[in-house]
Amino acid sequence: MDVSERVNWLKLSTELGRLSEKALLAIAQSIQEQEIQENRRIGLEDTQPAALYILYNGHLESYRTSKTSAAKATSLLPGAIVYLKELLLDEVAEETVITLDDCTIWTIPREEFIAIAQQFPELGQAISRQLATQLEQAEAELAYEREKQIALRPYLVPKVKRGIVGTSRYATRLRQEIKKASSDRGSVLIFGEPGLEKDNSAALIHFGSSDRKEPLIKINCNTMQPNGAELFGRVGKPGLLDWIGRGTLMLNNLEDISPEFEEKLVQLLKTGQFTPIAREGEPEPEPRSYEARLIMTSEKVLPQLEKCKLITHVIKVPPLRVRKSDIALQADYYLSLLTKSRGIAKPKITPEALRRLQGYDFPGNYVELENLLNRAITQAEGRELTEEVFWSAGDKNRRFRVNLLNAYPKLRQFLRSSWWPDRINYGFTLGLFAVVVVVLFAAPQTRDRNFALNLFWAWWWMLILISFPFVGRLWCAICPFMIYGELAQKISLWLFPRKLQPWARQSAEKWGGWFLFGLFTLILLWEELWNLENTAYLSGCLLLLITAGAVIFSVLFERRFWCRYLCPIGGMNGLFAKLSMIELRAQQGICSATCTTYQCYKGGPQKGEGMETGGCPIYSHPAQLQDNKDCVLCMTCLKACPHRSVELNLRPPGIELWTTHHPSYSEVCLLFLLFGAVFLHRLPQVEQLFGINLHLDHFGIHTIVSMLALMFPAAISLLFHQILRLLNRRSRPFLELAYGYLPLVLGVSLAHYLHLGLTEAGQILPVTAATFGGNAELIATLPIAVAHPAVIEFLQAVTLIGSFWCSVFLTQKIARQPIQNLLPQHFALVILGSGLWKLIIVS
Ligand code: SF4
Ligand code: SF4
Ligand code: SF4
Repeated sequence: MDVSERVNWLKLSTELGRLSEKALLAIAQSIQEQEIQENRRIGLEDTQPAALYILYNGHLESYRTSKTSAAKATSLLPGAIVYLKELLLDEVAEETVITLDDCTIWTIPREEFIAIAQQFPELGQAISRQLATQLEQAEAELAYEREKQIALRPYLVPKVKRGIVGTSRYATRLRQEIKKASSDRGSVLIFGEPGLEKDNSAALIHFGSSDRKEPLIKINCNTMQPNGAELFGRVGKPGLLDWIGRGTLMLNNLEDISPEFEEKLVQLLKTGQFTPIAREGEPEPEPRSYEARLIMTSEKVLPQLEKCKLITHVIKVPPLRVRKSDIALQADYYLSLLTKSRGIAKPKITPEALRRLQGYDFPGNYVELENLLNRAITQAEGRELTEEVFWSAGDKNRRFRVNLLNAYPKLRQFLRSSWWPDRINYGFTLGLFAVVVVVLFAAPQTRDRNFALNLFWAWWWMLILISFPFVGRLWCAICPFMIYGELAQKISLWLFPRKLQPWARQSAEKWGGWFLFGLFTLILLWEELWNLENTAYLSGCLLLLITAGAVIFSVLFERRFWCRYLCPIGGMNGLFAKLSMIELRAQQGICSATCTTYQCYKGGPQKGEGMETGGCPIYSHPAQLQDNKDCVLCMTCLKACPHRSVELNLRPPGIELWTTHHPSYSEVCLLFLLFGAVFLHRLPQVEQLFGINLHLDHFGIHTIVSMLALMFPAAISLLFHQILRLLNRRSRPFLELAYGYLPLVLGVSLAHYLHLGLTEAGQILPVTAATFGGNAELIATLPIAVAHPAVIEFLQAVTLIGSFWCSVFLTQKIARQPIQNLLPQHFALVILGSGLWKLIIVS
């Protein structure tokens, strides 16, 4: 190439083209042409450039190595001028320049070029132009980056939330599958039930891959335009697939995509190309390639994608219910996270609570578990997390209910008023109980001459047994024992301000039932051996004993510890309340979605329509109640709730016994103890029926016979259960089936007390007169209401027959097996029921 050709080329192909002819000629004359092979360095950063280089042919790359950031390389094409600025400004080279392939380079040695520059000052302007061009380029790049950031920012996933927790084989396999998917750039489908944090698994794949420095964006398919315009862009407007480059695109909730988008997605996966969306009237744009990696998450596999086998990795995330062994670790992990974010100490979860979590199916998976723990931490207020503070949303067993509070607004008004139960308790029951106890000690000691004894044995026992199927444990809301307990608590706190002891929940759960069973046994023996029914002062002692328990435990512990765990009457009430046709519960949906204060449980100041209360006195949460045992119907929660979540439901009687209740051994023992108590009360009839002398006048023999009577129903039931197990290997355990006897126990107890009630309760007026020393004439004039023996027998018979069939029905419901499989248990019912028929009605 001669000089004039070089001048022309410089003019046309380089930034020097604006120089004068003379200057270009001087440059062209100084050029030495060199052929340089691929991958040779022609200049080194931070050193003086040896010459000016003009790339005539081939490719160069300039770069600067940096210890603090990634090296950024620029590719240079023919016409590029290297080290012009450095030579004109006498600086060291900013970048290293190497050949990318075999190149033809025109070189002007440093001294010669400096001489030309001195001769032609216009060369200084060339450098200004070069700098201006570079600046323009940099600005364009910056603007592009800025636009890209703006486009991607709403969708960016900055980091992984968490790893896969657990050691089960499911957790291990999931980790392996995620690792495998991270090792290449193939498309991935992650599917599984809601709440499994599938997007987090997608993030684990991206951030575990070699593309981790590229962006990860997540698009929720349910919010995307049906034609996918955000993704594919429009003519003249890039979409996310353009912006993301080699990053990862996560299509979240793929099950929500439109059929239109589904087709485009199939094309995208099949061809590796997409077509921007054309507006109406615009020509169809050309298809474009994309570099991004695709990860999709879905609740199900889309048939079309599966059919075309377009996905490289398909990962199924196992639901939490099949990973029960991971629940402990997962719960512990969430607890650490949640307590850390609140800046509080991590509470312990009791083994029972953990078992309860493991027994639950978690339809909402991790999300539900996390919410459950979050609520539990709020509710527990720093205490250990017991099973009471875990309650789940969505209970399919809550059918067949009518909320009486909605049906009868006046009932709601009454139960939220100060009348229930405080004004009744402190205005009436408190005083009446004191009178009853004084009369029991001070007045004549037999039932026909002491109205308090009549009230206790003839009225109270009959009425409370009748009340159980209708109002459950309502007695406990107006119970005088506890009113004195509450009063003692208030006075003691006033006299000695202090913090009452928290409950030892674990031990109480474990031993409370056995304590009250033991105490009830002793009371029954005491009643039988010392004839409490007809000895007023001893009956008074019995009432005082229970009141003393309530008072002592109320002075020591917060709220009503005695009522929750230890009271024998409360134990009986809780057991029979399971048969009730009403229940108090809260709507779990409202509680979990709208409540943050849990005032029903914790108490607190007035909020909205929720009144100021001290919270549930027996530490029950109305949304977590699984049976009626732990609710005394005090309505504190109804008053406290600001969200109208609490319901008083009418329901099929006893439905919880075959749906939600928790059986326990101590409660089953109490059940048979109450059964045995009827045989105990009927020992004289046993003697009469069998024509034997049980020597009940001998204390020792009487004690032994009484204990045998108490154990008799349990022995018969266990014997027949063993026969049942022999005949039916798949039968339910005794612990569950034993509750089938409950209606019969209530029925026979009522049949027993009906006699006393219907013959003596109606004599209350003459008995009251006798109590206060009324003379025989006056007593004879007072009205009485006594049922005819035939009426009593009829009512007892109806009660026995009705309760027998209720027991058969309940046993069937609990067992969920054909009747022939349960014949031995039904036979035991027949034996015990007919035995009591003979003792109560025939004898
Ligand atoms: S549990 Fe016992 S003391 Fe408490 S309210 Fe009920 S009967 Fe009364
Ligand atoms: S019952 Fe009311 S106060 Fe209690 S958790 Fe539910 S909404 Fe909250
Ligand atoms: S759940 Fe409600 S009604 Fe039942 S005991 Fe607790 S506060 Fe009273």
